[in-house]
Amino acid sequence: MGSRKPVIGVPSNVLMDSHGAFPGTERAYVNQDYLDSLALAGAIPVVLPMVSEPEDLQAQLALVDGLMFSGGVDLDPLFYGEEPVPGLGDTYPDMDRHQLPLARMARAAGLPTLGICRGMQILNVAAGGTLHQALERAPEPYLRHVQTGWRHAVSHTVDLVEGTRLRRIFDRASVGVNSFHHQAVKALAPGFQVSARARDGVIEGIETLDGGFHLGVQWHPEGMVRKYPDMLRLFRELVEACIAKGGNPA
Ligand code: MN
Repeated sequence: MGSRKPVIGVPSNVLMDSHGAFPGTERAYVNQDYLDSLALAGAIPVVLPMVSEPEDLQAQLALVDGLMFSGGVDLDPLFYGEEPVPGLGDTYPDMDRHQLPLARMARAAGLPTLGICRGMQILNVAAGGTLHQALERAPEPYLRHVQTGWRHAVSHTVDLVEGTRLRRIFDRASVGVNSFHHQAVKALAPGFQVSARARDGVIEGIETLDGGFHLGVQWHPEGMVRKYPDMLRLFRELVEACIAKGGNPA
């Protein structure tokens, strides 16, 4: 890789234009704040559009030194062996068909990977875990995980589990986070550990046990970095993991 900045691939989301000049138009997009956070941390972000053929997925992976899965719509529960329940939001299964194999291939190749919100859920489901489809409909009493108002505002506390990479990244026992999710990790995938929890027990951070950088958080650090610069540490760690690895062997 030499001295160039690491290239971080960000799989695109689907935006359906429901009104405006071109209703029904489908667009590939990534929220700018993810790309800004990666750039601020010293990476060159590139958006990866949806593909599904294995050789195309492999070709996308070969372009990048690391991956970042962003937030977005709900995962299709059929991919983790569940039927949809009331409360499940919009799903775009083609996105899952792109991102789930990409996450598996990245893990197998040891490619540094950060998952944010839906992105963390992708890492878990790709490795065999399941999700709560709709926290707000669950029988257990949960805290509010869909805040309103400012995107950057701290909404609830997460406790960071001792001995985890996430705890080392923030170097403290708990951190205040924003919260914009109504799904959450239910069954943790084999080979992962929980690295953060909200005070209601909801899983807010996961990482693999093998020491590689394959880590997810349920909150939105990209929305907080301006007001809470500590949140940039997550993106810096991803960039540093790419540099330490010396780039993509593919
Ligand atoms: Mn939350």
